[in-house]
Amino acid sequence: MRKHILVVGGGYVGMYSAMRLRGLIRSGEVSVTLVDPRGYMTYQPFLAEALGGAIEPRHVAAPLGQVLKGVRVLTGRVTRVDHGARTAEFQPVQGPARTIAYDIVVMAAGSITRALPIPGLAEHAVGFKTIGEAVHLRNHVLAQLAAAASTDDERIRRRALTFVVVGGGFAGVEALAEMQGLADEALRYHPEIGPAELSWTLAEANDRILPELHENLGRWTVDVLRKRDVDVRLNARLTSAADGIAELSDGTRIDAGTLVWAAGGRPNPIGAASGLPVDGIGRIRATEYLTVAGVEDAFAAGDGAAVPDLTRPGEFTAPNAQHAVRQGKLLGRNLVAYVRGRRLKPYRHAYLGSVAGLGHHQGVAQVYWIKLTGFLGWLAHRTYHLGWVPTARHKAAVLADWMLAALFRRETVRLEAVEHADEDFRQAMAALRPPAPEQPGGDARPAQTVETGGHVHPAPAPPQPGGEVRQLPAAEQDGQDGQDGQDGQGVRRTPAA
Ligand SMILES: Cc1cc2nc3c(=O)[nH]c(=O)nc-3n(C[C@H](O)[C@H](O)[C@H](O)COP(=O)(O)OP(=O)(O)OC[C@H]3O[C@@H](n4cnc5c(N)ncnc54)[C@H](O)[C@@H]3O)c2cc1C
Repeated sequence: MRKHILVVGGGYVGMYSAMRLRGLIRSGEVSVTLVDPRGYMTYQPFLAEALGGAIEPRHVAAPLGQVLKGVRVLTGRVTRVDHGARTAEFQPVQGPARTIAYDIVVMAAGSITRALPIPGLAEHAVGFKTIGEAVHLRNHVLAQLAAAASTDDERIRRRALTFVVVGGGFAGVEALAEMQGLADEALRYHPEIGPAELSWTLAEANDRILPELHENLGRWTVDVLRKRDVDVRLNARLTSAADGIAELSDGTRIDAGTLVWAAGGRPNPIGAASGLPVDGIGRIRATEYLTVAGVEDAFAAGDGAAVPDLTRPGEFTAPNAQHAVRQGKLLGRNLVAYVRGRRLKPYRHAYLGSVAGLGHHQGVAQVYWIKLTGFLGWLAHRTYHLGWVPTARHKAAVLADWMLAALFRRETVRLEAVEHADEDFRQAMAALRPPAPEQPGGDARPAQTVETGGHVHPAPAPPQPGGEVRQLPAAEQDGQDGQDGQDGQGVRRTPAA
């Protein structure tokens, strides 16, 4: 009978395993269903360049339905796997949950952002793991510059021009470098802001950044960032973000308009929630064949799995794209062998090294014993990652983006309106409502909510005379309503130009 394979997650492992499986299997031998909440695979190493504007965000996403012809792609989340019953609970993006029966499961749900109970973190920080976050941050940085250029309020201006990134791994360092590159570019169009007014801080809990690279390369990167006026703080943990003020364990307090949380990930909890064997940090225990240890008909790999590293006995492979992509391909091959009752192949890959882009045509790379910095490091970063972009179409699109950015400068258009796309329409609809009756006391207020098709939206403010006035984020309002009181209490302020 035809086996049904369920792949949970459409990232590196999910997409590459399904691709390889599809390439090797005979038609009718198995049926494959892949579940992913987004419906596209994200090429995360280029998220920072999407943030910075060197790459169009769509070009770092591979639509799973298009890439995986012959695979049934469902958009939604697997909330739990009952492997004893060979069923998974599936929550589609719309409509009620349902149960999917399978014969073999592939657990490829990766990792999630590491959350810590830090006051104010949930309200004031932005993560950096998804395309949505990269696009949001890009719009946000540009919006902060526009806000600073348009206000007379010194505190709002300083706050808008203050950026803090927490986490000195690849994600944090690359995000900060690209944000700075984007801001430099945008400042050309805001002559009223001096470059020295911008304040950049990178906070890292350990005594070094980029731990995947040789220590010297980490130090070199710190020097480069400091030369760019980034305040790199080592041994400094974020202890609070309450009221949008980033407090570090070294006593620094920074009133920041932008706080990026890039302090790493943790294994997706779905493995533990499904009763599969997990290790102390929640990774599904896998064998070198990428099967789940001690469990039949189950495979796991990538960031969410503890895969033995045969090149370093006793250790597990690191959570990175280099392993995930190779594990995905081998997993696809092993699935075919498993279905046909053949021998599985063990995973063995000696870590090649790492590359990171630092914007401004600078980068850092370590390939085996070869260390590259500056322009060569940047070239190595781009060449290496371009080679791994999933499809020929995406490779061509990324190359074209780079060429356009080199020829015509980066795009600095701010599309934050996309994040509130229904605002104008709601305002137009609100104009249809009869005016609210006068309240006793004469203060006529707009209704609090508008209900449309089951959704409840805050009622838009009535149009202001003299043009559109946007509501400031709550954090910025705090500063306006006179509750500041932080000056003179040790809050570091960006020096005025
Ligand atoms: C900003 C950033 C930069 C990075 N840069 C580099 C780099 O330069 N070099 C490098 O080697 N590595 C890098 N990495 C790490 C690399 O991207 C990961 O190691 C790799 O993506 C892991 O692959 P994976 O398949 O295990 O997980 P992912 O690629 O994260 O895929 C997991 C998938 O599972 C889906 N999913 C989650 N929950 C569910 C659920 N309940 N049901 C169904 N689907 C679910 C997710 O939507 C996602 O598509 C970076 C990571 C980030 C965040």
